[in-house]
Amino acid sequence: MLAVGITEPGAGSDVAGVKTKAEDMGDHFLLNGSKIYISNGILADLVVVVARTDQNSRHGLSLFVVERGMEGFERGDKLKKMGLKSQDTAELFFNNVKLPKENLLGEWNKGFYQLMHFLAEERLLGAVGYLAAADAAFDLTMDFVTERKAFGQTISDFQNTRFKMADMRMEIDVAQAFVDQCVVEHNDGVLSADDAAKAKLFTSELEGRVVDACVQLHGGAGYMDEYPICRMYLNARISRIYAGTSEIMREIIARSVGLDPRNKRRSLAAAE
Ligand SMILES: Cc1cc2nc3c(=O)[nH]c(=O)nc-3n(C[C@H](O)[C@H](O)[C@H](O)COP(=O)(O)OP(=O)(O)OC[C@H]3O[C@@H](n4cnc5c(N)ncnc54)[C@H](O)[C@@H]3O)c2cc1C
Repeated sequence: MLAVGITEPGAGSDVAGVKTKAEDMGDHFLLNGSKIYISNGILADLVVVVARTDQNSRHGLSLFVVERGMEGFERGDKLKKMGLKSQDTAELFFNNVKLPKENLLGEWNKGFYQLMHFLAEERLLGAVGYLAAADAAFDLTMDFVTERKAFGQTISDFQNTRFKMADMRMEIDVAQAFVDQCVVEHNDGVLSADDAAKAKLFTSELEGRVVDACVQLHGGAGYMDEYPICRMYLNARISRIYAGTSEIMREIIARSVGLDPRNKRRSLAAAE
C-alpha cells in the first residue's frame, strides 16, 4: 500500500511551506521532519514524501520514496476522526532517515511542479468519487421516501420531497456531464488545472448539499448509525477539505480568469 505525505503540522494548503528537509550527503540523502493527516499512513509500505531540498526557494521541493522499516522512520497512532473510519490516517516522523540515491522520485528540486501536475488528476479522481457518493445517497433516499409514510401518504408524495429530489437529480446529472468531459480531456492529456479544480469544487460541494438534504428526508432515521446515509453524511465532510480545500480550488479558478493578486503586486513593484 502507498501513502503520499505532503501535509505537515505547519503546512497544509500552503504546500510550498513544507519544512521537512532532505540533504544530499554524497552517497545518500538524509531526511528529517514530520507529516500529519496522512491517508494509509499506518498500512503503507511505501510513502512518497515531499521534502525541501532548496532553502532559498519556496518551490525548492523534491519527492522521495520512504520504505517500511527504514531506520528513523516512525509512525504515530491512528488518528481518531469524524468519518472515513475504515481508512487509516496517521502522523509520520523522519529522524535522520538515510535514503539511497535511487529513492529520489523524479527530479531534484522539481517536486513542487511534479505535485501540481499530478494533483489535477487526484482532484478529478476525487470528483468522480464525490459524484458517485451523491448519486448513491440519492438512490438510498429514493428507496426511503417511497416506502416511509406520514400523514397517510408516502414521504415522496409531499411536494417538498419531489422538488428536493428533482433538484438533486438535476444537479448530479449536470455535474456528471462536466466531469465526463474532464475525464475525456484527462485521457487526451489536456485537462487544465483550473478545470480539475472546478470539477473538485463543484462535486464536493454538491456531495455536501445532497447528503445533507438526504439526511433531512430520512428524518430521525438519518441520524442513526444503522442507516447508511448517516455514515455518508459524516464521510462527505472531508471532500471539501482534502486534496485542496474549496477555498484553494476557488483561488486556482480565480487565477485562471486573470484575478491573481500576485501579478498585481508584481506590476506595482515594477512601476515603482
Ligand atoms: C482524513 C484526511 C486525510 C488526508 N490525507 C492526506 C494525505 O494522504 N496526504 C497529505 O499530504 N495530506 C492529507 N490530508 C491533509 C489535507 O490535504 C489538508 O488537511 C488540507 O490540504 C488542508 O490543509 P490544513 O489542514 O493545513 O488546513 P489549512 O491550510 O491550515 O487551512 C485552514 C483553513 O484556511 C483556509 N485557507 C488556507 N489558505 C487559504 C487561502 N490562500 N485562501 C483562502 N483560504 C485559505 C482553508 O481553506 C481552510 O478553510 C488529509 C486530511 C484529512 C482530514
